[in-house]
Amino acid sequence: MNMFTLSGKVAVVTGGNGGIGLGMARGLAQAGASIVVAGRNAQKSAQAVKDLQALGAKAIALEVDVTDEQSCCQLITDAVSKMGRLDILVNNAGTNIRKQPQEYSIAEWRQVLDTNLTSAFVCSNAAYPHMKQAGAGKIINIGSMMSIFGASFSTVYAATKGGIVQMARSMASAWAADNIQVNCVLPGWIDTELTQGARRDVQGLHDRVLARTPAARWGVPGDFSGIAVFLASPASDFVTGTAIPVDGGYSIQG
Ligand code: NDP
Repeated sequence: MNMFTLSGKVAVVTGGNGGIGLGMARGLAQAGASIVVAGRNAQKSAQAVKDLQALGAKAIALEVDVTDEQSCCQLITDAVSKMGRLDILVNNAGTNIRKQPQEYSIAEWRQVLDTNLTSAFVCSNAAYPHMKQAGAGKIINIGSMMSIFGASFSTVYAATKGGIVQMARSMASAWAADNIQVNCVLPGWIDTELTQGARRDVQGLHDRVLARTPAARWGVPGDFSGIAVFLASPASDFVTGTAIPVDGGYSIQG
């Protein structure tokens, strides 16, 4: 048996229409999974579906606003009814608002919290009964270097990314008996729309990242295809509650 095969499996990837989410979706598709691309921007999602179909995978797009509980629950219900099952959930959708801590409004705090953390809580809980009934499941959450470190310009984001690791450990512990593994991936600095904004907002960031990263480059979405396959496949059946950096060594540099 190929322990990395995902044929016959169905994956929902929030924010799967671009950046790291699409990098993960491509890996899952190449390993044989069918993909539900879940995002707000219908045009980006349609393009991502084409991209995944070109790899030979079955793929559909479903629209979701992950800040809306009802929309998250509907996403999971529709994914199961259209694809027949749900084996893998990737909680990847995320956002950031970069300010000093004292400058955030409560509305901004809630927007980042709802997008990055509450969404993963709601989607995971909605997926749980389907995975439990199937006797297996894989949930992959996306943390950050800010699951480990703080940053003056990312108070709310860091709170959500620290929180998602603790949430994953708790769900991993609760659902291990149901053969559902819950893990986190902690990306280093990856070249996506999100960090193109960061490089505009934070002076010197581009060069600081290069100087600190032993691999001496920014990451690219394709760097996430392999870890997605590992954490979605039988190869990781005894791996749960972990937070795995995919960062070119950024987090081990003293
Ligand atoms: P992108 O901006 O490329 O992707 C963000 C994705 O989230 C988009 O696909 C977007 O879809 C989706 N999204 C955002 N808000 C919502 C919402 N309310 N409802 C539905 N979908 C939403 O950035 P990245 O690929 O970089 O980010 C992906 C994840 O990786 C995030 O969780 C981010 O925090 C994390 N990360 C990224 C790092 C990096 O260096 N790039 C480092 C560490 C973590 P749409 O366009 O359709 O709204």
